[in-house]
This record gives sequence, structure tokens and C-alpha cells, in this order.
Amino acid sequence: MSGVSAASAHRVKSARTLLVNAVELLRQPGSRRRIDTAVAVGALDLTDDRLIGDVAVRLDVTSTLDDVIVTGHLAVARHDTCRRCLAAIDDTLRVDVDERYREQPSPDDDAFPIVNGQIDLTPMVREEVLLALPAAPLCRDDCPGLCATCGADLAAGPCACATAERDERWAVLDQLRLD
Ligand SMILES: [Zn+2]
Ligand SMILES: [Zn+2]
Repeated sequence: MSGVSAASAHRVKSARTLLVNAVELLRQPGSRRRIDTAVAVGALDLTDDRLIGDVAVRLDVTSTLDDVIVTGHLAVARHDTCRRCLAAIDDTLRVDVDERYREQPSPDDDAFPIVNGQIDLTPMVREEVLLALPAAPLCRDDCPGLCATCGADLAAGPCACATAERDERWAVLDQLRLD
């Protein structure tokens, strides 16, 4: 999937809702602005086809004496595949955000830059969501996966291979006993 399909085009909200005037906030340390919006993954340039629909963005943008703290949550519907059993995973990816913005961050500062008095939350939101996507998604932490021999879904119970292997081991023991 690339870009925004015609079907979802009417839902695309501009990422402009993620622009915050930092000058206003910094003029009075302790000021807070709440961002509560939804931005289409297409508008965020999130072209990963595991992400569906809108990213719900709930952030508090708070100024201190010389920087701006952004905290809150992101949520987006995800469709993925369990790497062990290949089952579909359809759930909501949730991301906690705790980031900092400042006027001219030094190279060793991990803060995001405030550019021309503006904070554009878009690159941060994109980065946070992509980092939260697991490289090896699992349908559940203890998914037993598929049998490497017969391909049976081991979540449904042991397959015939497990029994055969056990029988083989007993056969070896019986053999030893007979000798
Ligand atoms: Zn699984
Ligand atoms: Zn098997």
C-alpha cells in the first residue's frame, strides 16, 4: 500500500494540527497546550502497510524555563502477522510519549529542535510509531508456533511428531535394556 487510498481520502486530516506555537508557550513557563486529535497515517507519511487508519494523538505540550516537554499517548490500529504461528494480529499499537523540544539543541542533546518558534510534532509522532512496531510480532508472548516437522499449530496441542519422537526415545531405551 502506498499513499492514501480513495476510500480513506475523505478522512485525511492535515498534520497541521500537530503544529504548536512554542514562542507563546515559552513566554510563560508552565503554560500547557493539549493536543487531542487524529491524523491519518498517510498525512504522517507513515507508509508502513501494517498501520491502518488514523493515529490518535493525545499530548500535553508544557513549557519550562528553556524547553518544552511533550508527554502523552499515541494509538493506531495495526494489522500484523505472528512470526511463529502466522496468525493475524489485529490490535491497537499504543505508544507512550515523553519528549523534549528546545530552541537550539546541542549535538549531544537528544531534544527535538524548535524551528522558527514552531514545534512540528509530526516527525516525532512518525518516529515513535515506527519504533514501537515490533520487528518480530507475536500473537501472544508464549505462542508455541508451528511444528517445524509437520507444520501443525502447537497452540492447539502437541502434534503427532511429539509422540513419535517420544516413542523413538523409548525404543532406544528398550533396546539398551534388551542388550
Ligand atoms: Zn502466534
Ligand atoms: Zn509435528
